[in-house]
Amino acid sequence: MSIDLHSVNLNGETVDLTVRDGRIAAITPSDGTAKSVIMPLPVEPHVHLDKTFTINRCANIKPGLFGAIEATNADKKHWTEADLRTRAQQGLSEAHSNGLSALRTHVDWSQTGVPLAWSVVAELDREWTDKLTVQRVALAPLDLLGDPDIGPKIAEHVAATGGVLGAFIYQNEDLDTKLERVFRLAEQHDFLLDFHVDEGLDQDACGFDAVVALTVKYGMAGRVLCGHACSLSVRPQDDVARVMDAAADAGVALTVLPTTNLHLQDMAEGRSPRLRGLAPMQDLRAAGVTVLLGADNVADPFYPRGCYDAIETLRLACLAGHLNPADWIGAISTNAARVMGLDAPDIAIGAPADFMLIQGRDWDDALRSPTAQRRIIRSGQNTTIGKDAA
Ligand SMILES: [Zn+2]
Repeated sequence: MSIDLHSVNLNGETVDLTVRDGRIAAITPSDGTAKSVIMPLPVEPHVHLDKTFTINRCANIKPGLFGAIEATNADKKHWTEADLRTRAQQGLSEAHSNGLSALRTHVDWSQTGVPLAWSVVAELDREWTDKLTVQRVALAPLDLLGDPDIGPKIAEHVAATGGVLGAFIYQNEDLDTKLERVFRLAEQHDFLLDFHVDEGLDQDACGFDAVVALTVKYGMAGRVLCGHACSLSVRPQDDVARVMDAAADAGVALTVLPTTNLHLQDMAEGRSPRLRGLAPMQDLRAAGVTVLLGADNVADPFYPRGCYDAIETLRLACLAGHLNPADWIGAISTNAARVMGLDAPDIAIGAPADFMLIQGRDWDDALRSPTAQRRIIRSGQNTTIGKDAA
């Protein structure tokens, strides 16, 4: 099967593309204005399939992060195998329809024993393997994972069943000691690490700094990803400049999660937020840090709306962070894949024909409206979605 694509904006140049036998057979320069932009299939670095689609049964959620945590803990009584499977499946299905090729999901690990969601997501990964790569992160409170008796047991199970090790870090007591135990577990089992860190607006929340320092100490450049680091938006500028440089040198990447941060940070009943809680994406990148963008929560107490659509995440991040979208495609594709330890996708002759086209002459035009038509090509096969789709 062969597909000819005309007037495509590839990294700012107008080209024609030919797809043959599931691969990109030719890319040739073309004159005139592009009709669509092209990118590799998106890669999602940070969602929560165990929590997703629970908002309909959560009521009276208190404002802010800890209100969302409390509401989610109360909902966990409903998390049977069937419930988890149905909700997670809905998330995967939506992600696939929106063109994602891979996704990393955190799974709450809030007690010593193995959570049911851990095995449910593993089963779904096997079932979806031809369509979507699903990575799991064990998301344990740092107090639990950093416990010298409990942490090694969790790590052994994660190592035996395959996954990334992660912790929720927020101004814990003995933070450095507990976190160093986590790095030792990573060293022992050769884990990638992925932390929820400093998801709040306290100027003295500096777990990110501790992660950076330990990444250097344990030689884990390129193997550590943090999410949030909201406190970087309010800490003194000298501090922020110092830690951004240190993170770049250490090879620690950061995922910014615009929906959940904009929703939960500086949230109070009956009052509009003044502080928006987003880590300074442009400054981080300028300092040399790899910055990714993630969807985080979808239809749960942490964010009651949202969708498994990296293009929507990019659109929001561009608005909230004053980003130029054409410069940030890697944050939802190639860079995300690299940080997740996957092969980085590429639009090049001979590469697999796995990419997405969005109607528009350039990225500003393509992101202008959420209803712009998309063509998703997987292994050279064509799917069209959007308002004009036949
Ligand atoms: Zn998260």
